Amino acid sequence: MVLGIWLSVGLLVWRDRADSLRATGLLTESLTRVVSERVDGALHGVDLVLQEVTARHLGQGGRDRAALTSFMRTRSVAFFELRNLYIIDADGIVRTSTLDSLLGVDLSRRPYFQDMKAGNGRDRMVVTGPIPSAATGRIGVLAARPIIGRLGTFEGVVVAVLNPGFFNESLSGVMSPDVDRSVIANAAGDVLARLPEMEFDAGKSIRSGPLFTQHLPKSRSGTFIAESTFDGKPRLASYQALDRYPVVVSIGVTVEAALRRWTFSAIVVSVGGVMFTLLVLVIAVLLDRRNRAERRASAALAASEERYRLLVEGQKDIIHRYLPDTTLVAFNKAYAAFFDTDGDALIGKKWLDFVPKEEHAEITEALASMTAKSPTREDRRRVLRPGKPDCWIEWRTTAQFDGQGNLAGYQTIGRDVTDAFLAQQATAEREELYSQIFHRNPAVKLLVDPTTGLIVDANESAAMFYGYPVDTLKGMRITEINTLSPDQVKVEMEAVARQERLFLRFKHRLASGTIRDVEVYSSPFHVGGRAYLSSIVVDVTERNRFEAELASKSQELVRSNADLEQFAYVASHDLRQPLRMVASYVTLLSRSLAGSLTADQEDFIGFAVAGVKRMDALILGVLDYSRVGRGNESREMVDLGEAATDAAANLGLDQPDGEARIEIHGPLPAIMGVKVELVRLFQNLLGNAVKYRHPDRPPRLSVGCRRDGGDWVVWVQDNGIGIDPQYFDRIFMMFQRLHGETEYEGTGIGLSICQKIVRTHGGRLWVESVEGGGEGGGEGSRFLMAFPAVDGVPGLRELVDFS
Ligand code: ADP
Repeated sequence: MVLGIWLSVGLLVWRDRADSLRATGLLTESLTRVVSERVDGALHGVDLVLQEVTARHLGQGGRDRAALTSFMRTRSVAFFELRNLYIIDADGIVRTSTLDSLLGVDLSRRPYFQDMKAGNGRDRMVVTGPIPSAATGRIGVLAARPIIGRLGTFEGVVVAVLNPGFFNESLSGVMSPDVDRSVIANAAGDVLARLPEMEFDAGKSIRSGPLFTQHLPKSRSGTFIAESTFDGKPRLASYQALDRYPVVVSIGVTVEAALRRWTFSAIVVSVGGVMFTLLVLVIAVLLDRRNRAERRASAALAASEERYRLLVEGQKDIIHRYLPDTTLVAFNKAYAAFFDTDGDALIGKKWLDFVPKEEHAEITEALASMTAKSPTREDRRRVLRPGKPDCWIEWRTTAQFDGQGNLAGYQTIGRDVTDAFLAQQATAEREELYSQIFHRNPAVKLLVDPTTGLIVDANESAAMFYGYPVDTLKGMRITEINTLSPDQVKVEMEAVARQERLFLRFKHRLASGTIRDVEVYSSPFHVGGRAYLSSIVVDVTERNRFEAELASKSQELVRSNADLEQFAYVASHDLRQPLRMVASYVTLLSRSLAGSLTADQEDFIGFAVAGVKRMDALILGVLDYSRVGRGNESREMVDLGEAATDAAANLGLDQPDGEARIEIHGPLPAIMGVKVELVRLFQNLLGNAVKYRHPDRPPRLSVGCRRDGGDWVVWVQDNGIGIDPQYFDRIFMMFQRLHGETEYEGTGIGLSICQKIVRTHGGRLWVESVEGGGEGGGEGSRFLMAFPAVDGVPGLRELVDFS
């Protein structure tokens, strides 16, 4: 830079130098022009005088020298430039002169005379160099003109001795401190005047100088720089050769003078430049120092960054830095790995975009809430990553502020605490589970230390049951509520701890002093090396009471059933005996009175016998009824299809020549029961179906089954006379009949027995009118029996155990 500045300054200074020289050149040129015009004017005056003298000399033919001399004197006085005037004749002798001492002097050897006599320079004024006067020896410059006669003959020379001060005068007017050299010379290079004036030295010539040797031959005027002929100093000089006379004016300024102003400004500029350079150098040094300091600082920073990077890179924690809008600017490998991406893909991304949208507002608010006074924040968040299990990260964020206190960004360090969190969560869940199972449970629960019998925990239900607050219960010993002795309790608890017993029966004493029967279901477990018994206490006092009541009632029932059975048996057995006697004796009476009885008497005896028989039938029916379900018969799996087939065979319905027809739509389910009773069931139903046949059509019977929810429904259908729906319940009652004895034989006990058989097999029995049915003229009846199915799967041999 400095070099550049110096080059620029140098260029400017050089240009300024050239400008200075050019300006000086203009000055010297104009001065030269001024001096030239003055000298030319003066010489022209001299020339006119010479021509006038010549004219007058020729006009009078040289005769009246006195008059001519007088005229010449007048002119030499009038012209300041003129010192003397004289005329030389053709032989070189001065014939007429304003200076008497010159008269008669021979000037024929003077070069200008010889030159003119030789015919050179006709009709032209020549100017000689300074030469000493032949009369006085004073140095003077001569202006001479040849005198040419009318016939063109050379008749002499008219000479004006010029005052050398005239030339000096011409020059002195233009001298100034800047113009230090000026010169007027004749055509031969003889110096006519020179300033500063030095001791006039005749014969001094600049003929060999650069003006005459180089410049005049090329141009009559101009400006050049050359070493001075006089003092050898380099000079800038302008020159001009006069148009009409052989005189050259040159005005010069030493280059030093010409450049003085420039030199000053150059010095000023140089000094300024040097100072500027120094300043620049000083600044450069300072900058260099600062740069070095900065480099050292940045090297230190880089080293510290490197240490930081190594530290950060080596971390398992995920570390990232980001701008206030969450644009990532730096992060460690762990961070990139966490998002399963290479680092480049993350640069410039906003991490907020990785977070579910619902959480954006909360996060933005949390970041904005951080201030220079409280720049850190910790929170734990769930992070969702596609294709990866959710994880929990503990984030520690530090807001970073610049020197002006403006928020520059954040650094966040995240630590994966998923395992710890899950463990914590699992613990919390277990605690919650325990709390739900243990505390918020309507069952009475106690947690007991089996080694000490201490109640470690109890729930609200326990508190309510025992009448102690939970906190009181906790801390009590189980022996305080158990009526057994501590030793017995210990033995029982040890048995539970060994899992020898599923439950224990105790009597527990409540806070009120009441003793309650309890069943304690205990399960041993270990937590943290300690044994516990988790106990559910069930108050079975009421149940025990009910059970006791039930047991006594059952016993009562069994006893009364036995009594009833006894009664039925006695009734059926013992009552039949006197009936048979009545029947026998009435029959004997009838035989012995045979022939002596009237028809009515015969009928009366017949009625008595029939009544007895009916009574017997009824008693048999009762006996049958009482025997059903007594449990004396062994139970087995009974295929109802088989039972129906057997019943049909017993009734002779399987006879091909019989009028009645039966269809059994198997398969029918099998149930656990007493086969003989089930056969009887079908026998009663099928028997009724035939008995209550329609007079107009042969009996058509069918047996089948269908599934109805959880039941098997087995039905027996006929095409008989049907039953009026109003009697659907009544027909199942004992001895209830819809028809008279004469109309249809029967005791009205058959359906009662069917009902009892179905009930003792866990089912129910009912009747439906078949469509179109009605009293007397219907389509028939359908008796249905529903037995619960063991499971929902229909099958041929459903196992239905009613035991
Ligand atoms: P019984 O047949 O000895 O009269 P039941 O108890 O068997 O006694 O029947 C009771 C009554 O139900 C019968 O009197 C009869 O009126 C009626 N009944 C029973 N089965 C049928 C049937 N299949 N069709 C029409 N009526 C019936």
